[in-house]
Amino acid sequence: MFLEEVSKATLQLFFPKKCESCSRDLEMKEDFICLHCKQEMKFIKGDAHAKKMLQSVFKGRMEVENIWALYQYFEEGNVKNIPQKIKYQGGKQLGHYMGRMLGEVLPKEHDIDLIIPLPLHYKKERLRGFNQSAVIATGISEITKIPVEKRGLERVKYNASQTKFSKYDRWDNVRSIFQLTRPSLFENKHILLIDDVLTTGATLESAAQEILKADNSRISIATLAARL
Ligand SMILES: [Zn+2]
Repeated sequence: MFLEEVSKATLQLFFPKKCESCSRDLEMKEDFICLHCKQEMKFIKGDAHAKKMLQSVFKGRMEVENIWALYQYFEEGNVKNIPQKIKYQGGKQLGHYMGRMLGEVLPKEHDIDLIIPLPLHYKKERLRGFNQSAVIATGISEITKIPVEKRGLERVKYNASQTKFSKYDRWDNVRSIFQLTRPSLFENKHILLIDDVLTTGATLESAAQEILKADNSRISIATLAARL
């Protein structure tokens, strides 16, 4: 144990690890994200107002049991880059670490049966090398011990980036992009659907509507960041 600590300190001395969010050198006790950035994160867990806003995202659109997000995300500040870092800069370990953090804010008492990461189109997943939602889901599963199911829901439409569409087009663009291929996996189950970022919720809604076609299934949602 002692040797381990010494070699970690030596490594950090010669090859300092950088904060994934602001690039500051990390202290020995810090992992991936520095304390400054953690302080900058507006965690939703203790924020009644943010929690309420989060719960109302899908109001009138579909039945969602519960929605959780680790932190609120804004245009300014370093922490908004974390999901991009995970996605576009091969931040698999960071995604996993953030997934564990998200797992910690989920309630210990729950009746969730399965975790489902929002699927990527297989071509996109091949291009990126991994699905960021699946990496986050693995982190959550390690903390909560809820199993991850990657089968049964597929992304059948390879759609381009959403940012250039208007609000209506965006919705039109996400309709029927998912397909439930094995409904039996989700029957009578409470599903926790995972994505990296919650903004309009259109993509998540599209996936959830597909899962809800399985008999007696229920949906909750958890994301790393939420734009409220
Ligand atoms: Zn930082």
